[in-house]
Amino acid sequence: MARRELRGPSPERRTFVTDPLSGQSAELRRIQPHAARKAYRCPGCNQEISPGTGHVVVVPLADPAHRRHWHTPCFARGTPGPGQWL
Ligand SMILES: [Zn+2]
Repeated sequence: MARRELRGPSPERRTFVTDPLSGQSAELRRIQPHAARKAYRCPGCNQEISPGTGHVVVVPLADPAHRRHWHTPCFARGTPGPGQWL
């Protein structure tokens, strides 16, 4: 049976998605507000993700160096079947 973790994602729980930018398989990582210490540019809306904002990171499996940080709602809009990865 799968273990349910209601208080937050456990480190071993991985989510895989299709990167909207490259169309390649990627791992989705959720960044908690306390872990967001830098500002990033969201490719979905071209706006800044302010430090302290919870968001997601899309890490292409074949090219992890090209990870992109997205606002959570922006990524949901750009992904087929939004919600299945939340
Ligand atoms: Zn955005």
